[in-house]
Amino acid sequence: MALIVQKYGGSSVADTESIKRVAKRVVETEKKGNKVAVVVSAMGDTTDDLIDQALSIDSNPPEREMDMLMTAGERISMSLLAMAIHAEGSRAHSFTGQQAGFFTDARYGAAHIKAVRPDRVKNALSLGDIAIVAGFQGINAKGDATTLGRGGSDTSAVALAVALGADICEIYTDVDGVFTADPRIVPSARRIPSIDYESILEMASCGSKVLALRCVEYAQRFNMPLHVRSSFSRRPGTLVVPDGIDPRTLPNLD
Ligand code: ASP
Ligand code: MG
Repeated sequence: MALIVQKYGGSSVADTESIKRVAKRVVETEKKGNKVAVVVSAMGDTTDDLIDQALSIDSNPPEREMDMLMTAGERISMSLLAMAIHAEGSRAHSFTGQQAGFFTDARYGAAHIKAVRPDRVKNALSLGDIAIVAGFQGINAKGDATTLGRGGSDTSAVALAVALGADICEIYTDVDGVFTADPRIVPSARRIPSIDYESILEMASCGSKVLALRCVEYAQRFNMPLHVRSSFSRRPGTLVVPDGIDPRTLPNLD
């Protein structure tokens, strides 16, 4: 049995039909005998829409209130996904960044994770539940909500995977992994089946469009294997692995 963290980006949970599709995939992973913790982004363009709303009220909104507002996006997707998993007949429990034990510094809008103490997530997993965690958020020492910077849910997922001692962190997106070039622009671009952290960090132009750089750095620091893959297809994606690890030994590759 493997412990798997799956992260679903905004395009994978853009509407309720997509959330139901993701729920099926999560339950399928669980039914294969794995423990599954899921990190979600806000639905589609929700974060941008929230920012637009704030700016239509005040061109320079208070940072604390901005973070309070932006953390709402991920709370919507986490609770809807938990409901969709219930509807599939499995048990799920959602947690905000605070409930999941994400402690950050005080920098609103660009907070850094200081510690992850996911006691409640661990407890849910040990009871046989699927844990759903809101990405992109934590709390500072004052107990106020903070956000990690745009695209921060990838980092949340890796940090959770490290804190749980997961076997792999799967990053689900709308492309089939990392390509040698942007396949929408360069038709001859090829998918990279597996790559090490150093090389993907060097590929800033194509790698970083798919993965947030901080997330790769975090994974590298703790040797957490990543699998970047599409939630819209069953094709294999790109494995980002520490040197010396045989990618074929990693769980849930099909
Ligand atoms: N929803 C946040 C954003 O759009 C975080 C994320 O998607 O990773 O930046
Ligand atoms: Mg987003």
